[in-house]
Amino acid sequence: MQDTHAPFVIVAVDGGAASGKSSTSRALAKRFNLMHTDTGAHYRTVTLALLQAGIAPADTAAIETFLAGDTAPGTALGTALEGNSARLAVNGTAPADAALRTPEVNAAVSPFAAVPAVRRFLFDYQRTQPAVAAVHGFAGLIMEGRDIGSVILPDADVRVFLEADTAARAARRAAEGGVDAVAERDKRDSSRATAPLVCPQGAERIDNTHLPLGEVVEKIALLISAAQQRKS
Ligand code: C5P
Repeated sequence: MQDTHAPFVIVAVDGGAASGKSSTSRALAKRFNLMHTDTGAHYRTVTLALLQAGIAPADTAAIETFLAGDTAPGTALGTALEGNSARLAVNGTAPADAALRTPEVNAAVSPFAAVPAVRRFLFDYQRTQPAVAAVHGFAGLIMEGRDIGSVILPDADVRVFLEADTAARAARRAAEGGVDAVAERDKRDSSRATAPLVCPQGAERIDNTHLPLGEVVEKIALLISAAQQRKS
């Protein structure tokens, strides 16, 4: 049972593609009344906009111009709340989840996410998320991605890194009916120069290859409860 007087907690969940970050974060968000921010969806939203504008990942000049709003009709970023889920809205619109998870976006998102201008574009917005959660009365924030515990929220109260072997992750994605080269995305995400996918120093590493979702959630729930106690 969630303590309504618990202190505000910030939880960072990082990990590779299809490592269980979203299912785990959603379950914990519900349990502890946290706002859930999926930063993978942020990169997917920007990727979709760039693809629709006909811009390629290698064209960094066009990317910079587009994100500066010189050719787009402005690029104001905001947060659209759907229950516990905080979605990135560009100029007031948050794209539907299905549009963010097409094979085209899956294939293009890592190359775009490696472009420093794309990461800079999202950096300040992502750092506003604890304040957004507080303003809306949530008991905290759970934010998932690749660089949350290392770069975006390095002072988070709880930092976890989820991993699972590549075959298990590819099978999960295939079971969802997705077309997604998870190993290739991880390789790109881990080897890029800016904010690569890493297990942040001091983060709790959880291998869930053989661990059911419920057990992963319980493990992290203990860490969150301990953080709440520490802060009260
Ligand atoms: O989490 P998801 O698989 O939806 O993320 C899509 C892509 O967005 C990742 O493969 C990565 O290239 C990028 N990403 C990132 N930094 C984050 C979250 C996602 O570079 N914090």
